[in-house]
Order: sequence, then structure tokens, then C-alpha cells
Amino acid sequence: MAENMKRVFGIDLGTTYSSIAYVDEFGKAVVLPNAENERVTPSVVFFDGGSIVVGDVAKESAKLYPNEVVSFVKRSMGEPNFVFEYDKKAYRAEEISSFILRKVAQDAEAKIGEKVTDVVITCPAYFGINEREATRIAGEIAGFNVRQIINEPTAAAIAYGAAETHESRVVLVYDLGGGTFDITMIDIQPEAIQVICTGGDHNLGGKDWDDRIVNYLVEEFQRVTGGNEDILEDADTWQDLQLSAEKAKKILSQREKVPISITHGGERVKVELARSKFEDITRDLLERTVSLTNGILEDARKKGYSTFDDIILVGGSTRMPQVGEKIRKAFKMEPRVFDPDEAVAKGAAIFGWKLSINDELVKRVAARTNKSVEEVDTNWTEVAKEDVDAATREMARDTGYTVPAVESSLVKIKDVTSKSFGVMVTNADNEEMVFNIIQRNSPVPVNARDTFYTAVENQKMVLIRIHESETSDEWVPPVNAVEIGTAVLHLPGGLPSETPVDLSFSLNREGRLKVTATESSESRAVHVTIETTSVIGGRDLAEAKARSQQLKVH
Ligand code: AMP
Repeated sequence: MAENMKRVFGIDLGTTYSSIAYVDEFGKAVVLPNAENERVTPSVVFFDGGSIVVGDVAKESAKLYPNEVVSFVKRSMGEPNFVFEYDKKAYRAEEISSFILRKVAQDAEAKIGEKVTDVVITCPAYFGINEREATRIAGEIAGFNVRQIINEPTAAAIAYGAAETHESRVVLVYDLGGGTFDITMIDIQPEAIQVICTGGDHNLGGKDWDDRIVNYLVEEFQRVTGGNEDILEDADTWQDLQLSAEKAKKILSQREKVPISITHGGERVKVELARSKFEDITRDLLERTVSLTNGILEDARKKGYSTFDDIILVGGSTRMPQVGEKIRKAFKMEPRVFDPDEAVAKGAAIFGWKLSINDELVKRVAARTNKSVEEVDTNWTEVAKEDVDAATREMARDTGYTVPAVESSLVKIKDVTSKSFGVMVTNADNEEMVFNIIQRNSPVPVNARDTFYTAVENQKMVLIRIHESETSDEWVPPVNAVEIGTAVLHLPGGLPSETPVDLSFSLNREGRLKVTATESSESRAVHVTIETTSVIGGRDLAEAKARSQQLKVH
């Protein structure tokens, strides 16, 4: 790696497992194993006195210390009410996630003898503003320079594009992880990777398959012992059954049946779970992934994409054989299993690598053309081809990467927003409704504006209540939307009712929203960047950062 090129690591911060990857000297994405020599680290945090333990040991400790262990924290990202209390301190999801990030980075540093400073972190495509911001902040608390937050399916497609195909292909990324399901259509072309549309369910993942096994085990225990006690009320039994269920599920990916033993209150019951039974008790979960996929195909058709070439399966849960079978039947196509555990981290690493090559290329083009870095057109349309080519060759020579590898950093990656954004207004029937200004699945960055009108004469201010939703309809009932921030536009006295107020929404590539409100008669404007209320901030954030410096992560 050239001295002046910053290495950017890709981190897949998963609900159940996390991993880290980088691009090696040969331009190949490689996952770095943790200190336990595993390529994925359980996203489980154990508060052990003065130190924090992350990974396998934490996961195993859940049995003995259920109240000191946090799992599935990603499901609580951006949730204002989630806190985990330990030793009289309250930890938010961002801070707990920062421990997971530190663990994978720390172990990676030990493996390659290089400090991890810059990272690209992935998140599910349907994460809204708050969850994305929370993910970024988790990285900041861990002390990283977070270069970008990118969508997991986009990362998987980047890895797929880099490894498997050099031709144009429309692929459907079916990503069933530990806690989340994402379905995304992506058009991969040599010069651009473009997300067409995306959808999913952030409460559907391997964990739900585990829960079904747990429920089945409870019923079996009751049947055999003749009792009706809810044995899950016992925290030890609950933890025990969770772990046994996940293990049994994984074994069923290989074998037809699995023996499971349930111990509770001094009694032990042995149960044999057959794969067919497992499939029966989870069938509706799989059906749900298919109906969500059909929804996305419908959206894609509206955008002119009526077919696709490949379905790629990513995410650990696609190892369950019934997933592939179901897809084969439902879509009459042979799904391709693509690096289920590692594609996301590798794609993030490749993306990070492209960012740093691109930065370097921009610097060199700036030097050649006597411009400042800011003046270089990074769409490359206004830069003479010979300058780009010369800078590319120079970089290939200095870095040891091939010219095509350097050129691949010019590949454009275009994503879409998984949410619609709008404002609460009073409609003609005097009801409060959300009016969408940016529709979901619009390519980002996107700018959109609309004009609204004051309700009464001499109105002193306009309260702008910004909402996020998952529907593409123009009007959304408030129950189907989430308020993500507010802004106030103060008005001068004496304006008539029906005074126009322009609202413009600007969503950047990463999913950060800026809202500008203008009262056009006087060109009074307020510029508001949505301050997320559900994300750790201010003093809490400063404290979390300070704490993070003091705590040791193992
Ligand atoms: P991910 O978030 O992509 O790492 O996926 C993790 C999920 O995949 C967890 O729910 C795991 O239990 C599940 N998983 C991993 N390996 C297997 C397997 N061999 N069979 C079934 N599920 C698996």
C-alpha cells in the first residue's frame, strides 16, 4: 500500500455476527479472523466488572450471567428508549455497538500489525435516518473516522460484482441474516452499480427461526412433563434454550434430525427435532420473505425492470436448505449462494478501498491540472481523459495495483432511499396526514420541493414535522409514519392566510436529510439539518466517547 493511501477497512456490524475485511496488496478483499481465529464474531457484549468482553466468550457467558450480557443490540439502534444498565451506568445501543466495532478492529490490528483508523460500516438497506446516524455514531465512539455508512445488500453486490461478473447483470440480493431480511434489486454494469429498489423487514431473521424452535421445545417439555409452566420465565432456561435452538437449527442445515435436551427445574427432557418439523413450524416466515420479494419485483417493474438474471443468497440464514428450495420454486431460478458470511464485509472493504484510491486519484489529477482537490470534478466528466489515464498509470506504478484495479475505483455506485420522507400537514378534510416529498426507492442523492400554505392570518410560525415512512403513497396516515425531527420557521406578523411556504428536502448519498423552509414573499429561510432525537448526542455522546477510552474490550 502506498504510504499516502489511507487503508479503509470494511465492517459488517451484524445483528448476530460481525466481521471486518480489508483489501490486500493484490487488490483482493480478505476477511480478518478475530483473536479466537474465527472469521465472524458474535455481536454479543458481556459486561464483566471493569472490562467488556465481546464475541464467543460473551455469548457463552449469557447462560451464567443473563443480566450482564447484551445480544441483538442492532435491533435497538436509534431507539430512544433503549438503555442497558450495568453498574449504575446506562448504555445506549450506539455505545454497546461501539464495543463490538472495537473488538473486531482490535483483533484485525493484531493480525496485520496496522492501526484501523478509517472504516466503512454497513447497515440494512431499510435503516432509517436515526438508525443510520446511530451506526455512524457507534463508529465515532469507537474512535474511527467513519468514511461512509453503506447498505448491506449494496456491499454484497459490490463483492459479487468484483468477484463473479464482468458483464452487465441485474441481480436480486436476498439477504437473510440473524435479525434482518433485505431484498434488493441491483443493476451491475462495468461502469456503474445501481440499486433499483430495496425492501425488507427489520424484524425477520434467523433469530425468528430460533424462537420457533424454542417455543416448540417449551411445548414438548410441557407435553412430556405434563405441566403447563412457562419455563421461559426462568432466565437461565431461556438462555439455554436460545443457544440450543440456534445450534440445532445449524445442524439441521446439514442433517435430517437433531437431538436436543431441555433441562429445567431438575427435570430433563430429550426431544428429537426433524428437519421436516422445523420446516413446518417456520413455513410462514419463509413465505413472508417471498411475499416481500414479490413486492420488490412489482416496484422494479414500475421502474422498467421486468426480469432479473441472478438471485444471490447472502446472510447466514440462507444456509438453511429450505431457503434455496423455496426460491427455486417461487422464482423458477437456481439461486446462487455467494459467500453468505463474508460478502458484506468484503464489499464494504472494496468500497472503502475505492474511496481511498479515488481520493488519491483526485489528488493526482488536481496536481496535474493545477487545481485544488475541491475543484476536481469527481464525476470525471469535466476532466480530460488523458489526465485521468496518466494519473491512473502513475498510481498503478506507485501502489503496485494493476491499471484495471485503479480504474475500478471510478465505478459509480448509485443507491436508492429505502424510506419516503414527508411533512405532517392538515388536508382538505381537516385531518392530519403526512405528505411525502421524497418517495422511497428514489435514487440518492435526491432533492425535492413542494409548496405549502399557512393556515391562518397573521400566523407567527410554521412547525415543520418531518416524517419517515415505508410507503410510496403521496399521502400517508400518521400511524404508518415515524416523526424523525422538527423545525420551526418564524414568520413576520401581518401575513395573510394561505401565504406560500416552500419546503425543500435534500437527501444525500448516505441517507442524511437536510430540510430548508422558505417563506417566499420575503425570502426568509430556515435551514435545518434534522437533529435526530433518538440518537445519543450532546453530553451523553461526550461521556460515551470518554468512557470508551477507559474501558478495555476483550
Ligand atoms: P448474519 O447476520 O448474516 O451473520 O447471519 C447470522 C444468522 O445466520 C444467525 O441467525 C445464524 O444462526 C444463522 N446461521 C449461520 N449459519 C447457519 C447454518 N449453517 N444454518 C442455518 N442458519 C445459520
